[in-house]
Amino acid sequence: MSHPITAHDPDCIFCKIIAKQIPSRIVYEDEEIFAFHDIHPWAPVHFLLIPKMHIPSMAQVGVEQSALLGRMMALVPQLALEQGCNPYPEGGYRMTTNTGREGGQEVQHLHFHIMGGPRPWLRG
Ligand code: 5GP
Ligand code: ZN
Repeated sequence: MSHPITAHDPDCIFCKIIAKQIPSRIVYEDEEIFAFHDIHPWAPVHFLLIPKMHIPSMAQVGVEQSALLGRMMALVPQLALEQGCNPYPEGGYRMTTNTGREGGQEVQHLHFHIMGGPRPWLRG
């Protein structure tokens, strides 16, 4: 079974969130990138940063995605502070990307968890 990169997967819950067929609390949106609050937050701040393109996971990422991933990473500091993460170094945040079954990935659309805020957290 192949897991291609496509513009949109009609069966993917995150593609439906990007298309606003499923509502979400949006954190950020531009032509290529989307961010929204996780429905089951582990931490006082917990949002997901995703490409609009349906990339199933980190396993499909190659050099072709360098610019997109670079833009995503470069947004994190600003979005984290805007969403209430405290400033580095006393504050900060955790970024996590689960990949595949053994990596604990449940939704097959590449996403970066950004979690922060005062501890204790529910998990992590
Ligand atoms: P994974 O386990 O794949 O790394 O993380 C998937 C994340 O997506 C989970 O933290 C889960 O709470 C979140 N999630 C799953 N479905 C929805 C949804 O419909 N809306 C939102 N906002 N988050 C979701
Ligand atoms: Zn998708």
